[in-house]
Amino acid sequence: MTTFARFNCAICLGWLEDDQTIVATHCGHVFHEACVDAGLRTSSRCACCREVIGDLHRLHFSSAPFNRTDLQDDLDRAYKTIDKLQVEKDEAEAQIRSVVGQIGELNKAIDQFLPIYNSFQEQLAQTRQTVDSMKGRLLDQEKLLKKIQHLETIVRDRHDIRESKENDGNQREIGNHQDDRARHSGHEHKDFKSVREMWEKRLNHTGES
Ligand SMILES: [Zn+2]
Ligand SMILES: [Zn+2]
Repeated sequence: MTTFARFNCAICLGWLEDDQTIVATHCGHVFHEACVDAGLRTSSRCACCREVIGDLHRLHFSSAPFNRTDLQDDLDRAYKTIDKLQVEKDEAEAQIRSVVGQIGELNKAIDQFLPIYNSFQEQLAQTRQTVDSMKGRLLDQEKLLKKIQHLETIVRDRHDIRESKENDGNQREIGNHQDDRARHSGHEHKDFKSVREMWEKRLNHTGES
């Protein structure tokens, strides 16, 4: 695209027109002659680059009239660019609306999901409490079982001692007592055995549930 540049005087900032007296300094900068003359009363240096001005050279421009067709072409191209940008802007706005709509839908989904999530959290907390209390009960039952096993050991020991004494006093009946010893040694007292089995069953049942 053709660009049209106009030039101005760096002292007064007015346009440099072909019906005005335009001068160039030794350093190459261009001003109205009147502006340089006025400036020279306070400084002998260029208003642009501060070099000593020296001799001034008058400039004569050869100016051509504007070509209206070229200008119209430039204008048409500019309008086409504007139209194209407008389409892009509309598309971008449509995308933004679509994304905003999706965000709205997501927010609705979150609003629906939140109560369910919260209720799950409550259920989870309750389940944790139940598990904790069951763990407590299990520990209590394990303690009880250990006590029973301890008592069982004591009873069995006493039983063995008594039996041993009886054996000492009845040397002639060794054969019969050997049968008894075989029966009792290494076996639990039957009453405590049944109690222990009952607690072991309960303990297993609690552990499974
Ligand atoms: Zn000027
Ligand atoms: Zn200069």
